[in-house]
Amino acid sequence: MKKRILLVEDEPGLVLTLSDRLAREGYDVESATDGPGGYERARSTPFDLILLDIGLPGRNGLDVCRDLRQAGVETPVIMLTARGQTVDKVVGLKLGADDYVTKPFEMMELLARIEARLRRDREAHHEGQTVEVFRSGALQVDFRRAEVTRDGRPVEVSAKEFQLLRYLIEHRGAALSRDELLNEVWGYQSATSTRTVDVHVAWLRQKIEENPRHPQRLLTVHGIGYKFVG
Ligand code: CA
Repeated sequence: MKKRILLVEDEPGLVLTLSDRLAREGYDVESATDGPGGYERARSTPFDLILLDIGLPGRNGLDVCRDLRQAGVETPVIMLTARGQTVDKVVGLKLGADDYVTKPFEMMELLARIEARLRRDREAHHEGQTVEVFRSGALQVDFRRAEVTRDGRPVEVSAKEFQLLRYLIEHRGAALSRDELLNEVWGYQSATSTRTVDVHVAWLRQKIEENPRHPQRLLTVHGIGYKFVG
């Protein structure tokens, strides 16, 4: 699953160079060239990371970052600051930015920061209980609110589907047997059969996969059961 990056930057040359390089590194890149546009994009679409310039037309990056945090958008933000804007860096971090890179920057440095931030995000997610929101591409699962959204739109899931999705995400990357899923999600005393697991997996695929016939997240592991990747 490609990681999605939103680039909010008003210098056309930099937008072009960065978009091109990030795409070649395997990221899915979208860009906005002013503050209000960047804010709207970041609010309406889930991204894995936002690169946010400070000097932007319409609304500066610091305000955009603060407004996004106030609106509950927790996507990691790396601010792009001009050399010598020390105050901006401090303020930016206070307003909810996760990191900053000073312009003009070496591409390798920026790529390293991006990777480090995405890795940290992933590690935090792997700690299980502490995770409140899981994001992967267009899919977002808020565990605290028990809400699932795809491309920013709410997805209706039943309580059992949500419990199953949660267990799959918490153990993502691992092949989980039908018996394990049945025991963990429905309970040992349950009179249901492993067929129930298959049915719920099929329902979940209808809801979270772009193409349920060719799932990219909720995969079948032949002879075993299922695996969540993302
Ligand atoms: Ca600028």
